[in-house]
Amino acid sequence: MSATAEVPFLDLKSITGENSVELMQAAERVISGGWFILGGEVTAFEREYAEYCGATHAVGLANGLDALSIALRAMGVGPGDEVIVPSNTYIATWLAVSHLGAVPVPVEPVTRTYNLDPERVENAVTSRTRAILPVHLYGQPADLDPLRNIAHRHGLKVLEDGAQAHGARYKGRRLGSDPDSTVAWSFYPGKNLGALGDGGGLTTHDEGLAEQVAVMRNYGSRVKYHNEIIGYNSRLDEIQAAFLRAKLPTLDSANAKRRYIAERYLSGMADIGLDLPYQPDWAEPVWHLFVIRHPDRDAFAARLKLAGVATMIHYPVPPHLQRAYEHLSIAEGSLPISEAMHREVLSLPIGPTMSDEDVERVIHAVRSCA
Ligand SMILES: *Cc1c(COP(=O)(O)O)cnc(C)c1O
Repeated sequence: MSATAEVPFLDLKSITGENSVELMQAAERVISGGWFILGGEVTAFEREYAEYCGATHAVGLANGLDALSIALRAMGVGPGDEVIVPSNTYIATWLAVSHLGAVPVPVEPVTRTYNLDPERVENAVTSRTRAILPVHLYGQPADLDPLRNIAHRHGLKVLEDGAQAHGARYKGRRLGSDPDSTVAWSFYPGKNLGALGDGGGLTTHDEGLAEQVAVMRNYGSRVKYHNEIIGYNSRLDEIQAAFLRAKLPTLDSANAKRRYIAERYLSGMADIGLDLPYQPDWAEPVWHLFVIRHPDRDAFAARLKLAGVATMIHYPVPPHLQRAYEHLSIAEGSLPISEAMHREVLSLPIGPTMSDEDVERVIHAVRSCA
């Protein structure tokens, strides 16, 4: 066993350090400018991020949960409506639906990709379904074309949860770039594009929708002190927008580094019978997480910990078994694919500043502990 420090799960301090000069300059610009809410930094970030995604509009928001919820509301989702969500996502995806008085209807994933299974989505559509909310989980793009097809046939909206997938590509196209695509983003610090605090946003090609969301985020107001609708306070801060502008130019290289690590993991662990991430040929993931499965996950994680490798579980309890969703009365055992995932998945360290030495240590530890 090595006596060196543990391989951290994600080293935010070194990630932030990579951009420290630009981040300090950004902070100075905002502090000396004396304008902190909805100013030039947010507007510039919206333009730059829309351009990065290949979308025509971006709207900066306070966090990813609000981005999902406000976008759904602007798409017409309201009380009593059903929204199809993945059964195995982070709970924010479900909460965004619940906050509108609408009902999250969980659908199981394709086992190999962890993303929504279009066939099951088709079977879950009812007369009350208003929208489908696919998540690009772990940074792997969901299979959007069949989902869009179902949505067209049933007159449903599609909102993508891109919180884990900044820069990923589906069939060669960056998420957000398709004219049909509206994506809610989170810029939580640990995401692939993270602020130094909370942040979120929406990209879309629908000008009316972008405008509605922009009005909703600012108290339902276009003109100060004139309020058209029951809006929110959900603005991206100027200082966070400035930080995000400092980091955006390095997103592609940070994602490339994650891809390099993922490829080394995939080849270094290929021959030991572990369940490794699967990439459909149309997917260019950005490896927000590198998730493997092990039938005796907790003991495996404990051995890795002793071998100096930090891991995490995404996620230990599926939303339908959380106390918050007791009222939906979805019995244990009724979503067996995701329940098995929640018992078996384990996320290995991955991040843009991880050293080659640490990557090798992880591979070695996994090989000897599996
Ligand atoms: C992080 C995350 C969110 C929520 O983002 P916040 O900015 O923390 O509100 C939503 N969906 C998924 C899949 C996430 O990973």
